[in-house]
Amino acid sequence: MSKDKILYEGKAKTIIKGPTKHTLIQRFKDDATAYNKKKHKIFKGKGALNNKISEYIMNYLRLERVPLSFIKRVNERDQLIKECEIIPIEFVVRNIITGSIAKKLDLKEGIKLKKPLLEYYYKEDSLDDPMISRDHVEAFSWASKSEIAKIDKLSLKINNSLSRLFKKKGLILVDFKLEFGRLKSDKTKIVLADEISPDSCRLWDIKTNQKLDKDVFRKGLGSLLTAYQEVASRLGIGH
Ligand code: UDP
Repeated sequence: MSKDKILYEGKAKTIIKGPTKHTLIQRFKDDATAYNKKKHKIFKGKGALNNKISEYIMNYLRLERVPLSFIKRVNERDQLIKECEIIPIEFVVRNIITGSIAKKLDLKEGIKLKKPLLEYYYKEDSLDDPMISRDHVEAFSWASKSEIAKIDKLSLKINNSLSRLFKKKGLILVDFKLEFGRLKSDKTKIVLADEISPDSCRLWDIKTNQKLDKDVFRKGLGSLLTAYQEVASRLGIGH
């Protein structure tokens, strides 16, 4: 175990040296954090649940021809992924107004947007991930114009695919965050990286609007594990 070479320790995941060139192991932790680590708690089993939920979603997106860094899940906690250079932007897609946008612009929660809204946030904890414009991304060379065009298109495609998938499972995809990277083996290739799980998506029950995502923890609405387990079971993922 101690032979694992940790390359990066994140809030919810650890990145470990992979078994072959240009691969890494992404290990899911049980830690939940919110409000830039101001709130932190460990939920035993959360890592394993998110590992399986994200595996399911990535495999679904692979069938939809979304380029991925995800290769496969290898055990309860770990995924084998392709090494990539992460673009330091959080790409947020919103279908319904809630969370930071409702607060920032004093908008009514729960309003459905006429079309999905794409937002960019600069990934820098010390600045609380500030919202930026597409021009900032280009001006500071975080990504090129053509990379952003590709990412916007992929983000909307992912939103369409996942909204459809979750709808079939009785869930509304309210909003979510994506990360993209350039493959180490070929920097011209943009891939979807990181994870897609209830840590990074807002999911509401289609009938009751019950929150089944990290807002349960953020807002202290009940058991996070029960909510994540419900998402897993709707997707048909066993223990
Ligand atoms: N999100 C995330 N990581 C972040 C910030 C946001 O995964 O560091 C996700 C969040 O779970 C939600 C969406 O992105 O699904 C939009 O989040 P929002 O901007 O409303 O921020 P929050 O209310 O989470 O601070």
